[in-house]
Amino acid sequence: MNAVAVIHPQPVEAWLERLLPGEVKRDEPLAPWCTVRVGGSADVLVRPQSPDTLVTALGLAKAEGLPVWVLGLGANTLVGDLGVRGLTLKLPASTFREEVALDEGGGTLTVSAGASIARLVTLMKQHRLVGAEFLAGVPGTIGGAVTMNAGTKHGECMSRVVALELATADGVGWVDPPTYRYRHTDLPAGAVVTRARFRLPVGDVAASQAAMDADVGYRKRTQPLSQPNFGSVFTNPPGHHAGALIEKAGLKGHTVGAAQISTLHANWIVNLGGATAHDVTSLMALAQARVLEQQGVTLTPEVKRLGDFR
Ligand SMILES: Cc1cc2nc3c(=O)[nH]c(=O)nc-3n(C[C@H](O)[C@H](O)[C@H](O)COP(=O)(O)OP(=O)(O)OC[C@H]3O[C@@H](n4cnc5c(N)ncnc54)[C@H](O)[C@@H]3O)c2cc1C
Repeated sequence: MNAVAVIHPQPVEAWLERLLPGEVKRDEPLAPWCTVRVGGSADVLVRPQSPDTLVTALGLAKAEGLPVWVLGLGANTLVGDLGVRGLTLKLPASTFREEVALDEGGGTLTVSAGASIARLVTLMKQHRLVGAEFLAGVPGTIGGAVTMNAGTKHGECMSRVVALELATADGVGWVDPPTYRYRHTDLPAGAVVTRARFRLPVGDVAASQAAMDADVGYRKRTQPLSQPNFGSVFTNPPGHHAGALIEKAGLKGHTVGAAQISTLHANWIVNLGGATAHDVTSLMALAQARVLEQQGVTLTPEVKRLGDFR
């Protein structure tokens, strides 16, 4: 971490490129890195190939007062049309080591934050474990699943996590799982999740597979999976379903620019081709205003905004 103390004459982006060769891209368009395919470019995208380079990047950003953002698979992220200032981190799956430890009662699976959620499900199946079925079919990375406490009515990610590995400008270390709630985990400010350790029991593997098949089949029938989207737009307000509220407000199929409230599920917005973040946020604002006005319920976005918006 001595690198951060170096006095350097160049702009910090150029210094980063020299310090982390091959791991830094400037003016990188982020739409291809997000499932809804919307938004501007990152001033600097860093893809750290090792724990050390991640800590170096965090240290340099801290020393220079640059904001740091983390992007997983971008399955729950809306990037602003004006792009993202500071450093955007995207962790490759291979940066942190995967570990599997099995015992009589089950297994402990340690999965890299940049790996896909599907990797956890694959490891569970490979080792004849059960208990994370509800994550099958949820797109994203382990880092995103932990941060968002991803899940369904059948379970939530953090209920299976027994330890988290976090990186800050000071280094990388393991911590006990923080507190969490519906679609939110209380991570320390500025911490980057680098690995999560899951404890899963042995159990009925056939029943586990059947539950996953049923879940994935249900998704295919009810969600607009063939169009770019970011999953549920709003969290379900207590006692309500956001989709039902928006549908009741008459907005199913409503379009702004090239963004549409899905005709299949009203709590989803799809990109019909060339949608801007402005199109998407305009639709979201319309849904919030109509639902509040007509039904007296406040809709809270589930999607995370990243960067600068018009
Ligand atoms: C088709 C579809 C279906 C979906 N179904 C579900 C569902 O059933 N249940 C559900 O809960 N969600 C669902 N989602 C939303 C999404 O899959 C989850 O929120 C998922 O956990 C997002 O992971 P990600 O890696 O894409 O996160 P991103 O969208 O990239 O990031 C989300 C947040 O996590 C932060 N983050 C990501 N990685 C890290 C890290 N390593 N360290 C610190 N912060 C980090 C980001 O900064 C951001 O704030 C769905 C989305 C889609 C597109």
